[in-house]
Amino acid sequence: MTTYPVPVPGRDLATTAVHAGREDLAALGLHVPSIDLSTTYPLPSIEAGGAAYDTLASGERPDDGATLVYQRLWNPGTDRFERAVAALEGTDSAVAFASGMAALTAVLLAAVAGGTPHVVAVRPLYGGSDHLLASGLLGTEVTWASPESVGDAIRPDTGLVLLETPANPSLDLVDIAAVVARAGDVPVVVDNTFATPVLQQPARHGAAMVLHSATKYMGGHGDVMGGVVAAGHAWTARLRQVRAITGAVLHPVAAYELHRGLQTIHVRVRAQQSTATTVAAWLCERPEVSRVHHPSLPGCDPQRLVGTQMAGPGAIVGVRLVGGYAAASALIEHLELVTHAVSLGGVDSLVQHPASLTHRIVASDARPDADLIRLSLGLESVDDVIADLDKAMANLP
Ligand SMILES: *Cc1c(COP(=O)(O)O)cnc(C)c1O
Repeated sequence: MTTYPVPVPGRDLATTAVHAGREDLAALGLHVPSIDLSTTYPLPSIEAGGAAYDTLASGERPDDGATLVYQRLWNPGTDRFERAVAALEGTDSAVAFASGMAALTAVLLAAVAGGTPHVVAVRPLYGGSDHLLASGLLGTEVTWASPESVGDAIRPDTGLVLLETPANPSLDLVDIAAVVARAGDVPVVVDNTFATPVLQQPARHGAAMVLHSATKYMGGHGDVMGGVVAAGHAWTARLRQVRAITGAVLHPVAAYELHRGLQTIHVRVRAQQSTATTVAAWLCERPEVSRVHHPSLPGCDPQRLVGTQMAGPGAIVGVRLVGGYAAASALIEHLELVTHAVSLGGVDSLVQHPASLTHRIVASDARPDADLIRLSLGLESVDDVIADLDKAMANLP
């Protein structure tokens, strides 16, 4: 397996992944966290209840022993998952939500509430994020920019710069520190879903907020939805306020599952990345394929960000077919081991057609081309995945 440097100071990331958010368990006589399903908590007195409410509604941590008041304000298991994500991302804190889109919604609402509703966004983004910004539903106004033109797009009312690296579905890499420099005082939000903190910690390159669809690699098994934003204390307090008001909280069982998922994320992502790298190289040799998008390949990482900003190329591969849409459609239909389904980052390999599915709702001039399919490589044997692709390619028109 290819190994890459991991830019985490102090404790090794593997150790953090296994232990973060669990430091106090032994003292509690526990081996794994308890799941607290309470929606409400007994109040010791009217004064104590009011004081705890004030603390939580302002986005601060509750004092030791204070009543937690209500699940929409605080849940101990969610707090554990958040502390673990913050440790992995190298931020003060993190705030978890019911989904990745709920997390992005809270970030956008915080910008609108701050009186700075203009967002500069670097395309391509996840289709849902693109659609949320393009629709202006939350009162934001978007200017689309390239990484180079971010500085020119900024206005006095710009509240956020948003980017994704690797981007979905082109797998383009963006130099985070360069965009942060061009953004000046405007906070930069990086969607780190594809890289995961195993391969990239955007806050170390100056990002003010790091957003994840935890549904993907953090859960890792296709059975739990969640979102999380890691950031400095000032931002996480604002996001907790938005979460308390708007209510898109993570369910305590989902928080447990996501926290458990983090314990194996470093092993899963590295193994999946190894398979993706082998599959990408194999695809490059195929006459049916016109282009492969994976940051491990020559030409896909012109700025050489793998090895500096990113500790590896990740486990998502884009494939363009010589036969265009008809070939993409036939290939997907003839795959047996690889499941045709939306989403990514789980233990089983998935394939999907971005132009028809994840990016269907993106403006036509920014939509991916019809000859592109996207593979999310799982933990199956690489030989079996390649055999499945090989067999399906024998059926192309
Ligand atoms: C899936 C995804 C999202 C949205 O997350 P949900 O958990 O589906 O709401 C956002 N960004 C990226 C890069 C994604 O892949």
